[in-house]
Amino acid sequence: MAELYIDAQWRDARSGATREIIDPFDARVVREVSEGDVVDARDAIAAARRAFDDSDWPHRPGAERGRVLSRLAELIEADAEHLAALETDDTGKTLRESRQDMADIAGVVRYYAGMADKDAGEVIAAPDARMRSIVIREPVGVCGQISPWNYPLLQASWKFAPALAAGNTIVVKPSELTPLTTVRIVELMSELDLPAGVVNLVLGAGPTVGAELATNHDVDLVSFTGGIATGREVMKAASGNVKKLALELGGKNPNLVFADADRELALDHALLAVFLHAGQVCSAGARLLVEASIHDEFVDELVARAGRIRLGDGRDERSQSGPLISAAHREKVAGYVAGALDEGAQLRCGGKRPDDPALAEGFFYEPTILTGCHAGMQVVRDEVFGPVLTVEAFDDEAHALSLANDTPTGLAAGVFTSDLGRAERCARALRFGTVWINDFHPYFPQAPWGGFKSSGIGRELGPAGYDEYTELKHIAHNTAPSPTGWFDEEVAP
Ligand code: NAD
Repeated sequence: MAELYIDAQWRDARSGATREIIDPFDARVVREVSEGDVVDARDAIAAARRAFDDSDWPHRPGAERGRVLSRLAELIEADAEHLAALETDDTGKTLRESRQDMADIAGVVRYYAGMADKDAGEVIAAPDARMRSIVIREPVGVCGQISPWNYPLLQASWKFAPALAAGNTIVVKPSELTPLTTVRIVELMSELDLPAGVVNLVLGAGPTVGAELATNHDVDLVSFTGGIATGREVMKAASGNVKKLALELGGKNPNLVFADADRELALDHALLAVFLHAGQVCSAGARLLVEASIHDEFVDELVARAGRIRLGDGRDERSQSGPLISAAHREKVAGYVAGALDEGAQLRCGGKRPDDPALAEGFFYEPTILTGCHAGMQVVRDEVFGPVLTVEAFDDEAHALSLANDTPTGLAAGVFTSDLGRAERCARALRFGTVWINDFHPYFPQAPWGGFKSSGIGRELGPAGYDEYTELKHIAHNTAPSPTGWFDEEVAP
């Protein structure tokens, strides 16, 4: 135990509380970890505050912070296999996915290592020639960073890498369901040349530790990735001291397939779009919109392929998909499917737990395809966050776009077509933070990630993801000052 890291010390929760971490493959306890609460969160925030106000970290040259992050990227690469195994134990995702995550995390850390010394400020052309006017970026201060369970370390890295590159101090809170890789990376960070209190880690529940990070007035910025309902709570809590706020929330992401699309490409991607990590992906393409003229044959082939996805233990190299994160989450997913059937959807495959006795203990749910869906259904509007694909047919481009945009969220969308003009028109008309053309899911550190509408506020990754962790300061230097004489004139009493 002793998984809290506060002011450069590993310790248990002050209350002595612990939590069992469960392997979703077989419901076995993987490890017992310290369970922090508000008291521990306050200790960590105080340490981060001192480190920001008193240590040299925010004032170190960017190149030095970049070197620290480059070293971290090396440590991650050296530890990647171990980190990937931990991530699979904790989330149930396949090792192939976890390995990809670790490579991506090292890439994100390297990207922001390279950005740490690039900010040269900006000289503004002031209207008065005597005025030398410059704009610089400074770190925001103490940052609370709250991450979800589906990509535990990847989502955390999109936060800690830019925050540290810009000179902030951080308190990290992983999901209480999946803290293991975050604990491990903080172990790696403890080997770096960082003053005490720059990096702090508090494990614990959302309503205690997470809420304290959102509420506490010594926190200057809270960055949250998770569900929309929780995001609303964080937004309210952050209003006390008008914190800077970054919200990466969920979405219901449409995937548009036109009749002129390369059929094999569209089928392959439609399958991966929704069934990667059992659909527990914020950008899952869980809402398929297919042109009516190819709807039936496209769906038939998709159903056949979904039935062949091999569910299993993420540690088994032959497994293509793992379980859901918990029994409770599986119940939620099953509830959406039952609701859809009540509303008139047709079940084409899945819709139940697998029969294989080897999977009986785990939280598995079969890849599920529902046809005859429409935008008014709950299963189409909400993020189900499981292996459930809803299918709707469209008549033409205008119809496809109006269906796709008829949703309260706007994280990501895909368009499959061989008509380049249509691809560009659709990409511009879709109200989503990312639009993929003839692809689904790729993201990279260089490009911004985030949502329109209820999918969030702000952006992660790219230069925008760094800017979130900085305050802009304008310095106006009058190089030929003279008194204004404004109040010199005597006025009658
Ligand atoms: P969640 O909202 O239940 O929890 C996310 C985190 O918030 C956890 O660490 C949790 O402990 C914490 N939390 C819970 N209540 C809190 C509170 N009152 N105050 C502060 N923190 C609190 O989400 P989840 O189920 O862990 O993750 C799944 C969600 O995350 C999905 O909706 C998914 O779309 C979203 N997500 C979004 C992105 C993105 O980039 N937009 C990426 C990954 C996941």
